[in-house]
Amino acid sequence: MAEHRINKRRVDRFAVEIIRTLSEAGYHGYIVGGGVRDLLLGMKPKDFDIATDATPEQIHQLFRRSRIIGRRFRLVHVYTRGELIEVATFRGPASAKENKTCQNSGRILSDNTYGSMAEDAIRRDFTINALFYDPLAEEIYDFVGGYEDLNKRLLRVIGDPELRYREDPVRVLRAARFTAKLGVKADAASERPIYKAGQLLADVPPARLFDEVLKLLLSSHAVASFAVMQNWGLVHQLFPQLKFDKTKRVQEGPLLQQAMLNTEERIHQGKPVTPAFLFAALLWEPMNERARKYEDKGYSAQDALTIAGDEIIARQCRVTAIPRRFSAVTRGIWAMQPRFEKTRGSRAWRLLNERKFRAAYDFLILRSLEDEALLPLVDWWTQIQTISHAEQEKEIFVSGKGSKRRRPRKRKPASGQDAH
Ligand code: ATP
Ligand code: MG
Repeated sequence: MAEHRINKRRVDRFAVEIIRTLSEAGYHGYIVGGGVRDLLLGMKPKDFDIATDATPEQIHQLFRRSRIIGRRFRLVHVYTRGELIEVATFRGPASAKENKTCQNSGRILSDNTYGSMAEDAIRRDFTINALFYDPLAEEIYDFVGGYEDLNKRLLRVIGDPELRYREDPVRVLRAARFTAKLGVKADAASERPIYKAGQLLADVPPARLFDEVLKLLLSSHAVASFAVMQNWGLVHQLFPQLKFDKTKRVQEGPLLQQAMLNTEERIHQGKPVTPAFLFAALLWEPMNERARKYEDKGYSAQDALTIAGDEIIARQCRVTAIPRRFSAVTRGIWAMQPRFEKTRGSRAWRLLNERKFRAAYDFLILRSLEDEALLPLVDWWTQIQTISHAEQEKEIFVSGKGSKRRRPRKRKPASGQDAH
């Protein structure tokens, strides 16, 4: 294919270098997948993956700074200063032996056979992800009609959609992500089986689902992703503890909406975002509801919140394994919420100096979108951050009715406040 809109200068120099080295050794190398797709859409690719007819051993021999990795599918990481590029050998159809490692459900567990370029193309998920670009000849190779689909902004599964979703249900989440992120639309045949295929996500390892959820919701297209996931019943599948109506849609309140908008905004501004905050927002409502039940049973607000938080997170982890370093912060953000009610004395002082104070304060603001009664507290905690350390101390310990020194609390502080 001769005419295309790829500006060669936007292709990663290191990727071109690798392809040139492969070519000089008598192999063929191409930029594949999201890199080609995004370049054609005029977007900045996240990464440039390379596919080649050289085997992992042959690739490894050509590049001093490289390493063969992976068990499910072996590929080679080639490094340069501060950059890493994945180089994979063309994949072919699964062999008879490997077919045996398919589960009864049709899911592929292992696939390590090499194949031709065309075979490699049809093993990919969507046509727009199966284009090859040769930056030396500046040519695009298309075996599946991906170029035309891309021009039509069409997301089309390669092969039989139902079968391909069954092989790997994560493709359903990838479909949602590309729809939201690229502004493409799934064709009817690819969309029809999605709702049902989403249920197969129950068999996918929770750690992989956690990664995919972050790509959807901890991104610059979080709001659109959530909307697509709603339409396809995927929110219900991934966050079963939320409250759903009869059509399995969650009525997300302003808190969650704003949390996702804030994520987008922060990413656009180049600020860091954390899964801890995202999950705090996503699971706040079910956590709160459960905490109230414990309060009704006579637990203190703080203890109820801690116990409920642990339970809600444990359940969510069965679907999307949240690494402890994040879930600990999520619980910390929640556990700090009741503490905002005290604006005087040593407890307020300690709260202000918590390591995760800022995240908890940002969360308080979100809560105030759903609970106006919190607005005076938001004002107070906003104000206190604008004054000097000495003034803060004066404000918290001296002014107002609060006594300068409170008696130590009898009750042991609730556990779970691990965001210290
Ligand atoms: P991005 O990197 O922008 O998130 P991408 O399409 O590059 O999108 P990757 O996860 O980097 O996604 O995968 C690279 C390529 O590998 C894809 O474009 C696709 O061709 C292929 N691929 C990835 N995951 C799957 C899958 N689950 N099934 C089939 N092919 C896949
Ligand atoms: Mg990619």
